[in-house]
Amino acid sequence: MKDKNALGIGIDLGGTKILVSLVDISGNIFDSKKFETGDTDNGSVVLEKISSALKNFKNKYTILSIGIGSAGFVDYKHGIIHSSPNIKFLNEYHIVEEVRKLAGVETYVDNDVKMGAFAELHLGEGRGVDDFVFITFGTGIGGAIVVGRKIVRGIDNLAGEIGHLALVKDGYVCGCGKKGHFETLSSGPAIKRYFIEQLSCGRATKVFDFVKGDLSLIDVPLIAKFAKQGDELSLEALNYAMHYITIVISYIINLLNPQKIILGGGLLEGLEPVYDNLFDEIGKYALDIPLKSVKIVKSKLGENAVSVGAGIFGLMKKNNIDELW
Ligand SMILES: [Zn+2]
Repeated sequence: MKDKNALGIGIDLGGTKILVSLVDISGNIFDSKKFETGDTDNGSVVLEKISSALKNFKNKYTILSIGIGSAGFVDYKHGIIHSSPNIKFLNEYHIVEEVRKLAGVETYVDNDVKMGAFAELHLGEGRGVDDFVFITFGTGIGGAIVVGRKIVRGIDNLAGEIGHLALVKDGYVCGCGKKGHFETLSSGPAIKRYFIEQLSCGRATKVFDFVKGDLSLIDVPLIAKFAKQGDELSLEALNYAMHYITIVISYIINLLNPQKIILGGGLLEGLEPVYDNLFDEIGKYALDIPLKSVKIVKSKLGENAVSVGAGIFGLMKKNNIDELW
């Protein structure tokens, strides 16, 4: 039964969009609002947008808590975001203090991928699973590790930064400033970069005719569309990304021996034409026994995962439910 007297707000704070959801502790969604993040240099404008969404909910419901899932390196204990590569104003930003002032409600923050994993743990593919790893693919690559039904945090809350595993020598510079990271090889921008590099070397592709030579129109959905039709360079660009995904998944299997690996994020749809190659290739790298045990699955929670996870997280913190870490 939905309990309208015990609701919390979850906020998915991303570089391009912000999703605010009103949830109960079981993850039922009562209301939600989505808007563009807009000027990511300007914190007061973004805060103003969040504030108007919160006011709207507060007029209709009693709100117990707010949980925020934010991109970037988050100090959840002190409510500070140290840095978030795609949201500039979040540099050493005391987000908990700011939002608490706005809303007058207990507020908590954590990393967005960890909040997504938290939603998987309670509502998604992680239900009833002790040990799993959650990986999200999009503009960046995020990860969260769950062992014994707890999110592994490490000393700086940075355990699980799978996107920043170095895989090649002297590779491309990553958003974090280091070189050759997984994110520079298998993210959306990495696929696009590979495709355009090859195109610029004179490789033939039907995509070039389709965009009438305007390379700015090339994106992963378009590459995926042509890959499905057998376009060689499109398939190659997706396979380039999928190869490194396979390598990293084999590391996870060999290192952690998890029950499940849950894959999420908007880029998965684009990788669909080569998705089965993961299963064809992984046996070359992963040890046989843990490979046989692990289930590699796609998340079914969709775009609400982070906001719902953050909403439940906030309610659990508020109620002192001791299963968070
Ligand atoms: Zn990196």
